[in-house]
Amino acid sequence: MSIDFSQNYDAPVVTASMTPMDEGEFTLRPKTLRDYTGQEKAKENLAVYIEAARRRNEPLDHVLLYGPPGLGKTTLAGVIANEMGVNIRVTSGPAIEKPGDLAALLTNLNPGDILFIDEIHRLNRVVEEILYPAMEDFAIDIIVGKGPSANSIRLDLPKFTLIGATTRAGQLSSPLRDRFGVSLRLELYQPEELARIVTRSATLFGMQIDPAGAREIASRSRGTPRIANRILRRVRDFAQIYYDGVITAQAAAHALERLEIDQLGLDRIDHRMLRAIIENYGGGPVGLETLAATIGEEAVTLEDVYEPYLMQIGFLSRTPRGRCVTKLAYEHLGIAYAGQQQMKLFAVNPADIQA
Ligand code: ADP
Repeated sequence: MSIDFSQNYDAPVVTASMTPMDEGEFTLRPKTLRDYTGQEKAKENLAVYIEAARRRNEPLDHVLLYGPPGLGKTTLAGVIANEMGVNIRVTSGPAIEKPGDLAALLTNLNPGDILFIDEIHRLNRVVEEILYPAMEDFAIDIIVGKGPSANSIRLDLPKFTLIGATTRAGQLSSPLRDRFGVSLRLELYQPEELARIVTRSATLFGMQIDPAGAREIASRSRGTPRIANRILRRVRDFAQIYYDGVITAQAAAHALERLEIDQLGLDRIDHRMLRAIIENYGGGPVGLETLAATIGEEAVTLEDVYEPYLMQIGFLSRTPRGRCVTKLAYEHLGIAYAGQQQMKLFAVNPADIQA
C-alpha cells in the first residue's frame, strides 16, 4: 500500500481506508496476542488453535476475520503469523486480478506460511474458484495450452494458512465461507480498551499523556483503534502548541472541537446522515441508497463505516424497510422527538392495506 505521507492531514478522521494521517501506523501494530488489546473472545479461541497447531506441528486452519474497518484485522493476521513463527504475505481481493496472480502468490509460499487476503469479498469469481482446491487440497489446477489441445495440470502447493479479512461476511459466497475452519468476528472496542491502546501508542510515539486525556480520546473514537490513533496524532499537535506537550483531557477536547468531532465521536457526516433521516424522512424508515443519494455519500461507506457505530450507541436501527433514527439520537441532536408518529404511518406495509 503506498501512501503519500508528505501531504498534510486534510483527510477526514473517519474513513474506511488508510490516509496520510495514519503515518507510523505500522509501528503501532502490536506483534503478540498479549499486546493485542481487547477482542478477548477471539483471542482466547485463537490462542487455543495456535497452540494446538504448534503442538501438532501443522499449519493453522484457514481463518476468516470480519468486522468494520480499522478494528485490527490486518494487525491480528500479523500477530497470528508472529505467534506461529511463520512468514506472512499480504495482498487484497481487488489486487488479485487474474488466476495467474493468485497462482504466483500460492506457489511462492513456504510450508506453514500465511497468505493474508484483505477485502476477500472483492475477489473475482474466476480467482475465487482457484482458491477452493488450494484451501481444501493444497493444490491448484492450471490450464496449459489453448483450444482443443488445452490440458489441465494439477500443481501441489505447500500446506499454508489463508487468513481472509472482510467488512462484509454476508457478501462471501458460501463455498468460500465454508472453507474457513475458523471464523472470528471483531467487535467495536470499549472505551477502556481504546484508552489502553491510545496510552500504548502515545508511549511508542514518545508522548506524555495523562489518563483523563486517554479517556477523552477513547470515548470519542467510535470504538475503533485506527480512529483513536488518528485523533491522538492531532491532539499531539494541540498539546505541543497550547498545553506544554502533555496530552490532557483539555488538549484532547480542544483538538476534537477543531476536528468537528462531538462528545460521542460523531463527525459531520454522522450529523448530516441523522439530520437527513429526521428532516427529510420523518425519522425513517428510509432505504440506504436513498439516504446515500440525499447526503451525497456512498452507500457502502455509510453501511460499513458509519452505521456500525451509530447502531452500537443506539442512534440508528436497521429494519427491513430501511433505517430509522431513535429517540436517543433526537435528544443528542437537540431536536424535539415527534418522529415516531410519522414513522408509524410510513411503516404500514402496502400489502396489508390491499388485503
Ligand atoms: P483493519 O485491518 O481491521 O482495517 P488494522 O489491523 O489495519 O485494521 O488496524 C488499524 C490500526 O489500529 C493498527 O495500526 C493498530 O495500530 C491499531 N490496532 C488495531 N487493533 C488493535 C489492538 N487490538 N491493539 C492495539 N492496536 C490496535
